[in-house]
Amino acid sequence: MRTAMMAGGIGSAELADLVARGATVSRSVPVASLARLAALAPPAVAGAGAQLDAGLTFQAGAEGYPQVRLVVTGMVPLVCQRCLGLLEQPVSVDVLLTMVRDDREAGGLADPFDTVLLADGGLVPDQVIEDEVLVALPLVPKHAAGTPCGSRVEPAGRLDSGEMHRPMAGLADLLDRGGPQGDK
Ligand SMILES: [Zn+2]
Repeated sequence: MRTAMMAGGIGSAELADLVARGATVSRSVPVASLARLAALAPPAVAGAGAQLDAGLTFQAGAEGYPQVRLVVTGMVPLVCQRCLGLLEQPVSVDVLLTMVRDDREAGGLADPFDTVLLADGGLVPDQVIEDEVLVALPLVPKHAAGTPCGSRVEPAGRLDSGEMHRPMAGLADLLDRGGPQGDK
């Protein structure tokens, strides 16, 4: 009988087998399926089309706990904090994580920070991928200097008034006059 596993998760028995074989699991994950990453994209984009390619290579760790080497490449759509436009942030993650079951096990390691907590002995690859990509993203994403973003920044006090007019400003008046509350 197979133990039921979480959707997209690797159960403890399968995990032990992957470690014993030193196996590599490859995954392609749409950014749109990773809620926390997708939330960082401009609303109109919401991670559409962007994809992360990940490889997880399992091995027996030197300190008595199994390890997974995670390599992720791809692109994550972010909001540029200077122009608020779409910033296509390249991602390149390469980390070696020790798999532990709780904080106590993590505390006994030489490097307690490069760990991943197993849930019921199992691993959810997409969650690990998302966690590590989030950590690798810049705190304040911005287009690089010399890109169209940099050249679009207006000097202070010289806002183009042409961008300030509001073509919908008269719409509220029209709706008020023809609205359903008119019969009172
Ligand atoms: Zn920008």
